Amino acid sequence: MIIHSKKRSFGKDCNISLFTLGTMRATENLDKMYKIIKIAYQTGINHLETAASYGNAEIMIGEALKKLETSDNILRKEWIITTKVLPKGDFNYLKNNFENSLKNLKLNKVNNLAIHGINLEEHLDWVLNGEGKNFLKWLIKEGLVDQVGFSSHGSYSLIQKAINCDVFSFCNLHLHFLDQSKISLAELALKKNMGVLAISPADKGGRLYSPSDILLKASAPYHPLELAYRFLISKGITTLSLGATKLEDFNIAKKLINSSQKLTFSEISALENIEKLANEELKSTKCEQCRSCLPCPSEIPIPEILRLRNISLGYGQLEFAKERYNLIGRAGHWWEERNASYCLECNECVPRCPCKLNIPDLLKHTHNLLVENPKKRLWS
Ligand code: SF4
Ligand code: SF4
Repeated sequence: MIIHSKKRSFGKDCNISLFTLGTMRATENLDKMYKIIKIAYQTGINHLETAASYGNAEIMIGEALKKLETSDNILRKEWIITTKVLPKGDFNYLKNNFENSLKNLKLNKVNNLAIHGINLEEHLDWVLNGEGKNFLKWLIKEGLVDQVGFSSHGSYSLIQKAINCDVFSFCNLHLHFLDQSKISLAELALKKNMGVLAISPADKGGRLYSPSDILLKASAPYHPLELAYRFLISKGITTLSLGATKLEDFNIAKKLINSSQKLTFSEISALENIEKLANEELKSTKCEQCRSCLPCPSEIPIPEILRLRNISLGYGQLEFAKERYNLIGRAGHWWEERNASYCLECNECVPRCPCKLNIPDLLKHTHNLLVENPKKRLWS
């Protein structure tokens, strides 16, 4: 059965479903990609997101869409496709790479192109004043993309600048119920009529497809992931990325694909219950993420590290927090560079904390709780 979904305005003249299929994970073989895209279609999803850096994803999408057209009468023109380029290289390098993406996707143009990872000031400068500017000018002049956006893992102020520079029509941000630090940026982008995509609310949002007993108990009668999606929908986020690899991954998307209403009383009560239980678990050591403790002379990202502590102890998502913590210093500009072991115990941050947290002690505790042998990232 095919679910008919209402489409939502995403930037300029682009209408997409509430869920977006992220294709980073379904790249084992063509058959898998074909099946996943077909299930996405049946779920009411019309937006595919990919990148040249996701292994063979673009080639497989190109082949899968061709097969869907010939075998299932699902026309290619029904899809909205977003691909991405990294903010580096000169014009010829970018042109060649982009033409290669078009060839792989078997397209003459793409709907959306995102500059992937405007994580540093120099990346934004590359777009506004460098080779990126010439490249984007060429793309628009040749009619090779309808609109350009960006994704960022960078600081609040950098993302704010990127939103306000009026070059981009959409943005892909880390927006999660367990990490609400960028929600106000999403609201700013929406006010400017930009499309907003939440990057991986299920996985990067705290691995909510595998919730702890604390989260399951607190969110009843809802699944924590359903509540996290509903939280973002109620904030008006245009689309939520779903990195599905199997049929069951679409279950909640099927239920919510046409959801747009405000939170119900029962959902608010469940969300409050999650916070109440987390506060009980953390006692009076919850970091409220206000960032008043910064800057740290040792450049420790105190709020980010204490957020992982909140997530592991308050919400019980220990394995997720461990994985994120052990990526610190190992993912370049895609994540933080210094973990808690760099604390000099100078105490400069302590009087700045309105919650009166003993930050050096909590950092030490978090390090001991989370540190282990780090794992490799999937893709950059
Ligand atoms: S006590 Fe540690 S975290 Fe706080 S400012 Fe000093 S070095 Fe930074
Ligand atoms: S000042 Fe305190 S509550 Fe605020 S982010 Fe820093 S540690 Fe957390």
